[in-house]
Parts: sequence; C-alpha cells; structure tokens
Amino acid sequence: MQVAKHRVVTFDYKLTDEDGELIDSSEGSEPLVYLHGVGGIVPGLERALEGKSVGDRIQVTVAPEDGYGEQDDSLIFEVDFDQFEETDELELGQQFQIDTDDGPLVVTVVEITEDTVTIDGNHELAGISLNFDVTIVEVREATPEEIDHGHAHGEDDDEH
Ligand code: ZN
Repeated sequence: MQVAKHRVVTFDYKLTDEDGELIDSSEGSEPLVYLHGVGGIVPGLERALEGKSVGDRIQVTVAPEDGYGEQDDSLIFEVDFDQFEETDELELGQQFQIDTDDGPLVVTVVEITEDTVTIDGNHELAGISLNFDVTIVEVREATPEEIDHGHAHGEDDDEH
C-alpha cells in the first residue's frame, strides 16, 4: 500500500541539521505515526513521502519554508521584567504559552537582564534546513474516526 491522503503512515526517522548534527531520531524509541495529507508533519517531508511504500527509504532535505518556517524577528519580544509574577523561577530556555492576537503562541526565554526578559516565539527548528532520513514501516487505511479527528490513533488511545 502506498502513502496517500487519509492513510496512516508509520516511519522510522533520523533528523539532522545542515552540519550533520543529530536533532532527533526514532532509534531507541518509537517510530512516528501520522495521518497523511492533513498537515500532521512538515510539508516538505509529507510531499516526499507521497506515493512511497513500506520498506522505502527516503532521504530529503527540507528547506525552512517547507519545514518549521523562517526565523521571524517579529516573534521576538522584549518584556519588562516586572511583568512576570514569579521571576525567581525564570530561566533561559524555559518555555511557556502566551496569548496573542493570532492565538496561543509557545515562546522560549532567550535572554534575561535586570530589567527585561526576551522571549522568542519562533519554533526551535525555524530557519534550519532539515535532513530527514526516513524508512517507512507501515501504511494502512485510516479509520473514519481518525479522518474525523485529523490525526492517527494508537492502539490504546483513550476516547478524546
Ligand atoms: Zn483522535
């Protein structure tokens, strides 16, 4: 069976950056499972997997615009330190969600000074070309419920 819209695909993967540094891998953990054709994975990888079959190995470089987007400087904000209630707990790399006019946004604390905190709403992989090395493990038809929900279900998912 080939990868196509509304099929559930399981794949092993290794993800490295432009310098060959490992970003993420399914080795030693579970393969990734997703519902194809609904934007569940980055667009560049989803396109590369279209029409492929079990056992196929796909090596593809995904540019930022087909991955997690370009770095967007307008998503980096400097906030007055005293706007934070629990400043004792603030630390670099900390992530939390804020409300914006465009909806919720996950931000990362990237700089802390005496007066200000700089937070960055870019995805941590924004602006990076991603090298995917993927092997397809399984392809199956999605259930009507999965198509309705817009994502794949595991074997023991609770009702949601
Ligand atoms: Zn669901």
